[in-house]
Amino acid sequence: MQNSLRPLCLSLETLHRVKSRMLEAMERGLSRRTHSQATVRMLPAFIRSTPDGTERGEFLVLELGDTHLRVLLMELSGDTDQRVTMKERCFPVPDAIAQGPGEKLFAFLATCLWEFLDGLHMPKTDFELGFSFPFTCRQTRLDQSYLISWSKRFQCAGVEGRDVVVLLQDAINKQDRYHIKVIAVVNDTTGTMMSCDASAGPCEVGLVVDAGTNSCFMAEARHVEVVEESEGRMGVVTEWGSFGDDGALNDMLSPYDLQLDQASLNPGRQSEQVGLATARRVLRALGLEASDQDCFNMQQVCKAVCIRAAGLCAAGLAAIVSHMCRNRELSRLKTSVAVDGAVFRAHAKFSQTLQQLVKQLAPECDVTLVQAEGSSKGIGMVTAVASRLAAQRLQVNQTLALLQLSPAALGTVQALLRREMELGLKKETNAMSSVRMLPTYICATPDGSERGDFLALDLGGTNFRVLLVKVGSRERGGVQIISEVYSIPPHVAQGPGSQLFDHIVECIADFQTKQGMMGQTLPLGFTFSFPCQQTSLDQGILLSWTKGFNASGCVGQDVVKLLREAVKRKNHFALDVVAIVNDTVGTMMSCGYHDPNCEVGLIVGTGTNACYMEQLRNVGTLAGEEGRMCINMEWGAFGDNGCLDAFFTPFDRQVDEASLNPGRQRFEKLISGMYLGEIVRRILLELTDKGCLFRGRLSPKLQTPDIFQTKFLSSIESDGLALRQVCAILEELGLHVSCEDSVLVREVCQVVARRAAQLCGAAVAAVVEKIRENRSLEQLAVTVGVDGTLYKLHPHFAQQVQETVRQLAPRCSVTFLQSEDGSGKGAALIAAVACRVARHQRA
Ligand code: ADP
Ligand code: MG
Repeated sequence: MQNSLRPLCLSLETLHRVKSRMLEAMERGLSRRTHSQATVRMLPAFIRSTPDGTERGEFLVLELGDTHLRVLLMELSGDTDQRVTMKERCFPVPDAIAQGPGEKLFAFLATCLWEFLDGLHMPKTDFELGFSFPFTCRQTRLDQSYLISWSKRFQCAGVEGRDVVVLLQDAINKQDRYHIKVIAVVNDTTGTMMSCDASAGPCEVGLVVDAGTNSCFMAEARHVEVVEESEGRMGVVTEWGSFGDDGALNDMLSPYDLQLDQASLNPGRQSEQVGLATARRVLRALGLEASDQDCFNMQQVCKAVCIRAAGLCAAGLAAIVSHMCRNRELSRLKTSVAVDGAVFRAHAKFSQTLQQLVKQLAPECDVTLVQAEGSSKGIGMVTAVASRLAAQRLQVNQTLALLQLSPAALGTVQALLRREMELGLKKETNAMSSVRMLPTYICATPDGSERGDFLALDLGGTNFRVLLVKVGSRERGGVQIISEVYSIPPHVAQGPGSQLFDHIVECIADFQTKQGMMGQTLPLGFTFSFPCQQTSLDQGILLSWTKGFNASGCVGQDVVKLLREAVKRKNHFALDVVAIVNDTVGTMMSCGYHDPNCEVGLIVGTGTNACYMEQLRNVGTLAGEEGRMCINMEWGAFGDNGCLDAFFTPFDRQVDEASLNPGRQRFEKLISGMYLGEIVRRILLELTDKGCLFRGRLSPKLQTPDIFQTKFLSSIESDGLALRQVCAILEELGLHVSCEDSVLVREVCQVVARRAAQLCGAAVAAVVEKIRENRSLEQLAVTVGVDGTLYKLHPHFAQQVQETVRQLAPRCSVTFLQSEDGSGKGAALIAAVACRVARHQRA
C-alpha cells in the first residue's frame, strides 16, 4: 500500500520546482513573443480594478450555463458596509435553442431578460449588463469577445468567429421598453475573484478547483505585453489547467497519472486536473475490491491524491503571488485569494493543506483563502466595477479637459503675447500691456575678453546666495565660482524691507569673513529677480514683489540704494555695486559667454520670466535708434490685464486667490514651480469630491495647502517608475492610495506639467518669431539660455517646451542651452563688462 502511494507524495523541494516552472510558464504566456505558443496562456480579462466598496446601483447579469440560463439583478448600496441584494430567475435552455441557429439563441436570451424584468415591476428601465459566456473565446476588450468554438451541449450555427456582445446587444435592442447596455463579458474564474468582499482588504487572486482547475490574478498591466495598456493593473486568467502539456511536469508524474491521462478524453492535455473523483479510478487501476480494509486503503489513497492536488495548487498559487510581489516591487504582498469549486466545498483538508503549503512556498506573501460567494455575484461585480470605472473616467476627462490645450489654443497664446509685447514696447501703450518689457541697459553679450574677480548676489527665489566669481581666460579654466547659500525665512521675506536688506548685508559679511576677504572691495553684480524699472545699469526701482516675497517699504524704491543704506547701517565694510541684474539677463549672459547666438534668457524655477535682445529702435520707452538692448519681459505678469482669462480653470483661480499676490503674475501661476504642485492638489481635491479618487474620502492631509510640492511632480513622472514607487511618494505625503489612485494622480501631474511646458513653449515661440521678424530673416538660428530647477529636473518639461516651439515657430531653429549658475555667473559677467566699459571711458 505504502509503496503504491509513495509516487504520489511530492516533497517540498519538488513543489518548489513546480513553482519555478509555473513562473517560467507564466512569463512565456505574458510575453508578446511567446504568448501564442505558451501552455499557460495568461489571457487578459480586461478587468482593471477589483471592487473598492464604492460601487453602487443595479446591474443585470446573464449567466449561460450548461442546462440553464440564470438572469439576475444585483443591487449595491455603495455605502460603508456595501450591502448586496440579488433577485434571480432560472430558465431552462431547450435543446432546440442550444443547437439551433445563433439568432434564436440570442433572441432567447433577450426574451428571458425581458420576462425577468417585467416580473420585477421596477420603474427603472436603464441597465448595464454583464454576460457570462462559458465557451472558448478570444476576448479583445471587456465588452468584445469572439467565440472560437462551442463545447458541451452547445452548437449554434453562425456564431463562431463573431463578437458575442454585438449579437446579444442586437437581440436586446429589438425592443425599446428597456435600455440595456452589455458592458462586460466575464469568465467564471475572474467572477470568483471579483465576488469577494472588499472590506477585508484586496482580493486580487481567484482560484477554481472543480471538474477542471483555473486561476486568475491582477497583474501589472505593463507586464501583460499582449495588451497595449501600460498603466495600472489588468486581470489575467492563467488557463493553468494545461500547465505541463509541453512535458514540463513529466518528471513529477506518477504511474497513475500516466494511466489516467491515457484514459482521458484529451490525452496529454489538462494534466493538473487531479480532482478527487479520480481516486476511484486509481483504486480500480490497483485492482482492489471494496472490503473494509479496501475502504481504509481507499481513504488513504484519497488522502494522498487530495494532498498532492493541494500541493500542486499551492505551487501554482505560490507562483502567482510571488510573481505579483516581485512585479509590484514589494517586499511583502498581502492579498486574499477567492477560492471556489467542488473540491474546496467538499474537502476541508484541501484548503488547510493549500494554505499551509502556500505559506511555505511563498514566504514573502500573506495569503488568506476566502470562500467565493458564487459566480453570479462575481459577474455582477465585474459589471459594477466596469461601470464605476467608466463613470469615473468620464468625470476625470471632463475635469482634465479644461487643462488640455489644442495647437490652436497655443497659437492664440503665442499671438496674444506677441500683441502684449508690442504694446509694452511702445511708450503710449506700455501701461495697457501686462508685460512690462523693461530696458536693462545691457547692450551687448560677453565677448570672452572679460577678466577679474567679482562678487555676485542672487536674490529672487528659494535661496539667497553670495558668490565670488573669478573670470579668467578660457585656457585658465574660464569662470570659477565659490558660493554660499543663505536661507531667507518667510518672516524676513515678508517683513519690513530694512530687516530684509540688513539680513542680506549680514550674509555678505559672513561670506567675506569665511573667504578671508573682509577688507577687499570687489565690483559687485546684484542679481535681483523681481520686476525693476531701470534708468541705468546700477539703479533699479522695484515695481512689485512676486514669488512669495512681500517686504514692506521697498516697492517704488531703488533696490541698490536700499542695499547701500543697509551697508551704511551695518557700518563695517564697503560695497561697489556696479550692476543690478535680472536673473533672466544673467542666464542669457552666462550662456552668451559660451554661445554668441544666445540672445534669449529663460527662467522656469520658482517663477518664470524671459528676456531677449530687442532692436533699440523698437523700444519706444527709450531714446536711441542704433543697436540692441536686452529687454526684461517680465512675462510672469502676462494676462494680468485679463487677456488670458479664457485659459484659466477654476483651479488656477483658486491658486491665484490663495496666493500672496492675487490677480498678479497670472501667467507665472500657470507655469512655475511655486504653483504647479498646488494646482495638482486642487485638482485632486476636486476629483476626490467627485468620487474618482481615494474612494471619495478627503483626508486632512490633502486639504493642507502647499503639501504637494512641484518636485513630487518630477518624481512621479519619472520614466519607468513602478506604481509601487508612485504609491511610496504619495505615502510619504501621508496619502494612502490604491493602485488606481496612483495612476490617476500621475495622470493629473502629467496634464498640469504638460500644460505648463506648452504655455512656456508658446511664449518662447512668440519671442523668437519677433526676433526673426525684427531682422527680416527667412530663417533664424538662435539660442535660448535656460535656468531653473523645474526646467532642468522635470523629466519631460524641457522636451515639451522644445516641441511646442518647433510647432509654433517653424521658421526658427532654436537651441536650448542650460546655463550653469546663470544668476551668479551672469551677474559677474555683467559687472565685468561694466568695468571694462568704465575703464574705456576713463581712458
Ligand atoms: P529659483 O527659481 O528660486 O531661483 P530654482 O530654479 O532652483 O530656484 O527653482 C526652485 C523651484 O523649483 C522650487 O520652488 C520648486 O518649485 C521647483 N523644484 C524643486 N525641485 C524640483 C524638481 N525636482 N522638479 C521640478 N521642480 C522642482
Ligand atoms: Mg534662480
